[in-house]
Amino acid sequence: MDIQEAYQALGLDPGVDDARLKAAWRRLVSAWHPDRNKSAEAARRMAHINKAYDHIRQIRSGVSVPSDTEAPAPADTSDASETAETFEARTESRTVHLTLDQAVLGCVRSLRGRFTHGCRACEGQGQRVLDSACQACAGRGSVRRAALFGWLWTQEDCADCAGQGRAREVCGDCGGAGERSVKYRRSVRFPAGVRAGDVLTVPSTRHEGFELSLELRVEFEPHPFFILDEAGLRCEMPVDGYAWMAQRWVDVPVPGGVQQMRLQREALVYRLRGQGFPLTPKGERGDFIVKVLPQFPEDEDEAVQEALDRLVAASARAAEAQARSPLGEWRRRLGQWQPKLGD
Ligand SMILES: [Zn+2]
Ligand SMILES: [Zn+2]
Repeated sequence: MDIQEAYQALGLDPGVDDARLKAAWRRLVSAWHPDRNKSAEAARRMAHINKAYDHIRQIRSGVSVPSDTEAPAPADTSDASETAETFEARTESRTVHLTLDQAVLGCVRSLRGRFTHGCRACEGQGQRVLDSACQACAGRGSVRRAALFGWLWTQEDCADCAGQGRAREVCGDCGGAGERSVKYRRSVRFPAGVRAGDVLTVPSTRHEGFELSLELRVEFEPHPFFILDEAGLRCEMPVDGYAWMAQRWVDVPVPGGVQQMRLQREALVYRLRGQGFPLTPKGERGDFIVKVLPQFPEDEDEAVQEALDRLVAASARAAEAQARSPLGEWRRRLGQWQPKLGD
């Protein structure tokens, strides 16, 4: 590629200044970048544009380049951000809300978002200055305005060209906004044992000239059943008092679902081994602590009263049959007791 071809590739005259050279290159990159331009020739055009731009910059900076070589340009470390292949680094910080089930078991979340950046084609101006003269002021940059019934004239800066005298057009890349927004979508794996306040850094991916990293701060959603504190993952649940006395099975919520647990008479706190929060990230799971709160009806109806009477009678018979039971022994001693009330 000779220098004439390089300028032609960017649609410029060799006399163009550095700022406009850079603006033209950015405009073309923005139009032909394969991330955005899905046409078959995008990659080839992109390479051609970058090669032309690098070539011109090398000539301008006084670096001699053998014209017959296809080798990539030597890295310009003094101004690396302007080499054609460089992607601008960008970090987006956001908060991700996880449920405690997701934190205990680990999960994959699909994250969508967008970030905005200054438009490269117009360098954030929203419009581009053209070579042609401004029509409103015929290139003078100022307009005359009649004052005092035409007796006087005043000179004012032309509003259309901000006094510069050159025509302008709205930037087609950003529609005049001066900035563009880039959408991203990432699938992110959160490891089992991630905690509220943890910050995960997701390796960068490329989006429209940006090297995008995500910095994700984890927060927990309030859980309908679980509490996580220093003691570990726990749950408090009301149970039927009679079912508790009868040592029945009950459904217990555990991370990821519901499982059955057998109630034990007198026991109020249960530890489900290996069902709790991971002790270390990705590590072994601790115990899940279930505290049961036995509930008895405030007003027992007739059917319950009769059943309780039968139950108490049957229980008393069973105690009598076992003479050495603590209850049988107690009753025997209570029956013999003569309280001493005086000498
Ligand atoms: Zn623009
Ligand atoms: Zn003007």
